Amino acid sequence: AEVDQGKFYAPNFDVLYDSPLYLGNQKIIEFQELEKKITLSIATPEGLDQKKFVDDLRKILRSTTKLMQHIPFNDYTFIMMEPGGGGLEHWNSQAVFTYGSFNFENDRAYKRFLNFLTHEYFHLYNVKAIRPIELGPFDYSQENYTTMLWVAEGFTVYYEYLIMRNAGLLTANEVLEFLSSHIKAIENKSGKDHMSLERSSFDVWNYFLNNDAISAETTISYYQKGPVMALLLDIAIRNESDNENSLDDVMRYLYEEFYRKQGRGYTENEFWDSVTKMAGKPQEELRKYVESTGSPDYEKYLKLAALSLDRSSADDEKTELVEKQYDLIKVVPENDLQLKIRKSLLQEN
Ligand SMILES: [Zn+2]
Repeated sequence: AEVDQGKFYAPNFDVLYDSPLYLGNQKIIEFQELEKKITLSIATPEGLDQKKFVDDLRKILRSTTKLMQHIPFNDYTFIMMEPGGGGLEHWNSQAVFTYGSFNFENDRAYKRFLNFLTHEYFHLYNVKAIRPIELGPFDYSQENYTTMLWVAEGFTVYYEYLIMRNAGLLTANEVLEFLSSHIKAIENKSGKDHMSLERSSFDVWNYFLNNDAISAETTISYYQKGPVMALLLDIAIRNESDNENSLDDVMRYLYEEFYRKQGRGYTENEFWDSVTKMAGKPQEELRKYVESTGSPDYEKYLKLAALSLDRSSADDEKTELVEKQYDLIKVVPENDLQLKIRKSLLQEN
């Protein structure tokens, strides 16, 4: 917090370490949303349509609050830096690299950028507030191992799309396209047969950013399989609860129970217990898909939401040498519940 002009105060080391400083002549934009002060700090604003961009961010903030029903900050800053890759979430800011300007090559590139900002923003909830118990308070002197990054990162990827959809910034078909891209990434590599999702989380200290050819065939990424498991879990919970509950309820429960009430992270078993609570019964088969190698039974779960995986080009022998397509498509529902689940999941009327 700023206590005086240019004087800042942090109550402890964790807060200090979580508070980036960005010095330069960046463009500053301030506005109120959700009765909070929002600041944009943009290093390369060329091509910026300020009104549209601020409007789009407002929609993202509102739709995230609608999902989580609570805001854990008084002020929040989007620190948008020079061109580069990646970003980092903080308690009241995100520091992200950008495209270097707002002249995106097309609408899809702009939407990807908004997805990315949504991702870092949702981390405020899923990883800062809702966190695996191993991830804080930190012992900064050694690595912190957890099996749950598939939830912390993977679910955050999944919610990029749902929040953007709810904000009216993605169509239902675009949500399906983004989700399909993750299935394609997993199924085109043999890494899925050698590493489980849990292991990809636990081993991240050994291979993160090690993108060589061998690791692509021996490891999987929780950024890819995580959102796919989120989709299957979401469908399973909706199916078991007659579409009364969803993965949203799991997120809200974890937030209320462990972050707000108990002020701590959740354990692996507590995560699965919260799934059981919302589904009404344990989801052992899906848990097995997280803990073991191989592919999940996609069709079994997708069908429950009147969806299917189009593998027509994937099964075409002629396409053997190119990346195979796995497209999520809508199919004719077998009953009202399946249609209801698809409509509420994709937020279609
Ligand atoms: Zn992330």
